Amino acid sequence: MISEKMKGFVANSSAIRAMFEEGKKLAAKYGADHVYDFSLGNPNVPAPPEVKEAILDIVENEDPVLVHGYMNNSGYEDVRSTLAEHLNSRYGTDYSASNIVMTVGAAGGLNVILKTILNPGDEVIVIAPYFGEYRSYAGNFDGVIVAVNSDPETFWPDPEAVAAAITEKTKALIINTPNNPTGVVYPESVIRSIGKVLEEGSRKYGTEILMISDEPYRDIVFDGAEVPWIPDFYGNTVVGSSYSKTLSLPGERIGYLVIPSSVSDFENVISAANTATRILGYVNAPSLMQRVAARCLDAKADVEFYDRNRKLLYGALTEYGFSCVKPEGAFYLWVKSPEEDERAFAARAKDTEQILVVPGRSFGCAGWVRMAYCVSTETIENALPGFLRLAESYGLRG
Ligand code: PLP
Repeated sequence: MISEKMKGFVANSSAIRAMFEEGKKLAAKYGADHVYDFSLGNPNVPAPPEVKEAILDIVENEDPVLVHGYMNNSGYEDVRSTLAEHLNSRYGTDYSASNIVMTVGAAGGLNVILKTILNPGDEVIVIAPYFGEYRSYAGNFDGVIVAVNSDPETFWPDPEAVAAAITEKTKALIINTPNNPTGVVYPESVIRSIGKVLEEGSRKYGTEILMISDEPYRDIVFDGAEVPWIPDFYGNTVVGSSYSKTLSLPGERIGYLVIPSSVSDFENVISAANTATRILGYVNAPSLMQRVAARCLDAKADVEFYDRNRKLLYGALTEYGFSCVKPEGAFYLWVKSPEEDERAFAARAKDTEQILVVPGRSFGCAGWVRMAYCVSTETIENALPGFLRLAESYGLRG
């Protein structure tokens, strides 16, 4: 019954599903407290109190027909204006409601913008390691993902490698900072270089390459790391974000696209994005959550909590002899596999210590594993003896 295309998607998502099933089996065998699941990026800190206050106040005091009704497919005008003003005060921009499309999470926004721009066979450059769902999102519109390796030391995008990957079919480049899975925040100099490379590529082929900045983790940064506002460095940039991580609302499916007026063919792009939202079947972003988001623009989930987990996990694993990239943002730790095939390492961690990590090849980068540390601090504390035994079994401590 299912389409050939869906068969491909289902086969590709089976690894993550298998891990999920495996976690359930282990929990049944050893008890949930003795399974250490670092596989999912599901925030475990509650939404900040402002969210509940806003929900209650909106439901009590705003017009229910308005709060729960259809609106412009791009979202409520007043919500988009408030968000635009908030961005203006943060980044010195001059956006208005007409630059914003409220979306069904960051994932919905990526699908909207890719549907807006892709013809079949168009290429979308991504920087490996990358969020694996990009493959499905581009595939939805018969786009082709072109993965370009990041610098193997820093995991920053490599401008020369990006330049070499550009062809006449390149329609977009997706960057993601703070990054899932590495936790790296790209410095301004790198963003600037990538912008230049895209300008040169567009000139060379007479095309207009769109930069898509996927930034659901923008506000989860540590040690004062700063995430540059990407359209400042390359005008033909669309920013996609969401409140899934910064307000801990992943199930509520609320996010937005910023389509600056500097984007090529702006009027057509914004009107196509508005249409894409409708015809993808999302119609509009969840109405109540749009209104909640507009009231919580200065609120944040407990980033200190993630920071404590980050320090605990990074500190312990490096002490045990694992090589890790020190995360500057998001809530992932990128760990070098102590054996060449990281799937074998992940299997050993699971079978001997009930520790679940995701093999890097799911992110287009073998030899590494990703750990999501948006888990309880006890989960990390209780998993550490297992990591120590693993380190010893690989002779990492010398
Ligand atoms: N982009 C990246 C890099 C992500 O890690 C995620 C979710 O984990 C998303 C997009 C999707 O976010 P949302 O839940 O807001 O759709």
